Amino acid sequence: MDLYSGHINKLIEELAALPGIGSKSAQRLAFHLINMPQDKVNRLANAMLEAKANVRYCRECYTLTDSEVCPVCANANRDHRTIMVVENTRDLAAYEKTGKYEGVYHVLHGAISPMLGIGPGDIKLKELIERLRGDVEEVIIATNSSLEGETTAMYISKLIKPVGVKVTRIASGVPVGGDLEYIDEVTLLRALEGRTPM
Ligand code: ZN
Repeated sequence: MDLYSGHINKLIEELAALPGIGSKSAQRLAFHLINMPQDKVNRLANAMLEAKANVRYCRECYTLTDSEVCPVCANANRDHRTIMVVENTRDLAAYEKTGKYEGVYHVLHGAISPMLGIGPGDIKLKELIERLRGDVEEVIIATNSSLEGETTAMYISKLIKPVGVKVTRIASGVPVGGDLEYIDEVTLLRALEGRTPM
């Protein structure tokens, strides 16, 4: 038996398919949206459509950006010979917030996870190796300290070593299984400063 109208059910279904949203939250959000003023709903819908239509990968580091090259890569004052490898754009933002990192980034958009069937070909690894053909001095691996993050770090290190570029790993002052984006800036900086060769 359907308790709600077809439209509400559809909305709940779509919301529940989002990460971190269970069916109870989906119901709460659906009713919230329906009770919102029309112009607010329009703004939300447009923001989603416009982000989807206009956001793309940076040509160099693959972070999500509005322009062909992201502001970090476009900045000539950054040290383009130091590349920090992160799992996603949120992790990049976390390091940018510290304001202390002067190099550039490479965003993998995921981590290797045999359990989830995510292999090296499913993240932006080939693109990283491609970048090493340029003038690169150090690659800092700042993937999360989860099993997937560590697996990815090991894989990248093995891949890069033959190229002759220095590879370091951020210190694991970061709690195991910890998502970089939730860790405070001091801890992030400590992890960066305490990085060790792999
Ligand atoms: Zn970039």
